[in-house]
Amino acid sequence: MKPSLFDVTIIGGGPVGLYAAFYSGLRAMKTKIIDAEPDVGGKIRYFYPEKLIHDIGGIPEILGADLVADFKKQAETFDPTFVLNTRVTSVVKQNDGTFYIETENGEVHLSKTIVIAVGSGTYKMNPLKARFAEDYTSALHYHLRDLKKLRNKKVVISGGGDAALDAALMLLPIAKNVELIYRGDDFKGYEERAKTVLDSGISTHLHHEITSLYGDKTLKEIEFTCTHSGENKRIACDAIFVNHGVEVDIGNMRDWGFETEEWGISVNHEMETTMPGIYACGDVACYPRKIRIIQAGLHEGPIAINSAKKYLDPKAAPEAMVSTHHEHFMN
Ligand SMILES: Cc1cc2nc3c(=O)[nH]c(=O)nc-3n(C[C@H](O)[C@H](O)[C@H](O)COP(=O)(O)OP(=O)(O)OC[C@H]3O[C@@H](n4cnc5c(N)ncnc54)[C@H](O)[C@@H]3O)c2cc1C
Repeated sequence: MKPSLFDVTIIGGGPVGLYAAFYSGLRAMKTKIIDAEPDVGGKIRYFYPEKLIHDIGGIPEILGADLVADFKKQAETFDPTFVLNTRVTSVVKQNDGTFYIETENGEVHLSKTIVIAVGSGTYKMNPLKARFAEDYTSALHYHLRDLKKLRNKKVVISGGGDAALDAALMLLPIAKNVELIYRGDDFKGYEERAKTVLDSGISTHLHHEITSLYGDKTLKEIEFTCTHSGENKRIACDAIFVNHGVEVDIGNMRDWGFETEEWGISVNHEMETTMPGIYACGDVACYPRKIRIIQAGLHEGPIAINSAKKYLDPKAAPEAMVSTHHEHFMN
């Protein structure tokens, strides 16, 4: 059966794609959102759901997970179609001007316009490479999505960047014990944060790396090795938070037919790419003086949607009614 044709398909269900979906609802466009992950929320859901966010206008402080839930609820206002666990692999303009969108799992989607909001692409955390790590995968945590799971556990953090330092500080009041192991001679994260960790009483082991995991059915101990002397030590451990960096993958987007730059897709002030009918917003959109924060993308999403609307209907109003005057919210 031929898939149904949408007015706009938003590729990427991060904060910017979700807000764009809400705005396209305000513009009465039949909207689909496709995301590679099993749930929406983009980087916030993936990297920092348990962190407080302080730099969104009018919201002095909000937990990442709560912000994602709010974005999702708002995006659902006009009932768009969500397609999750689905990575877009190509976009082809057909002779009739509509777009044929192909995905990794072999699905095909049809759309009159496309808004690309893929952030930095898809993500994959670098794994812990240590002996017997594959025997204790349930004790390895690559995200802190639910701090409660680590309550009263002996937690070892492997890594020395900001995320590792933040995790150590977040877990300190919750876990039974927190130790931080990092192979470098100095932490990579912000100096001030590193100092806070060092002053906090957390045991830190610089120039060491985890080399083996031991236990029976569950993890009981880890061995770690000095990168200078080769000396080994063992400590008790129930869980490991691994932060060895992330691989981001923009895929083959550079071959989709529009102009790209080192950090993403070139757009003009209308968020138009160089291919008519395709727009970009959020972290992936590149223009002079670009700021890669949530708030900036929330401005770009509506511009992209307005451009798509104008492409479909040149006589349409240039922008949506503000919610105060929008008929959907009148009653
Ligand atoms: C650790 C960290 C902390 C941060 N803290 C803050 C902060 O405090 N305040 C702030 O304003 N900003 C912060 N940022 C930046 C902020 O997260 C981004 O600016 C924001 O997430 C960009 O939103 P986006 O929707 O453009 O992209 P993303 O959030 O990256 O979402 C993109 C979505 O597209 C999907 N996707 C990618 N490729 C494909 C594909 N081919 N097919 C289908 N789906 C695809 C991804 O799965 C993802 O869900 C932080 C970033 C990081 C990494």
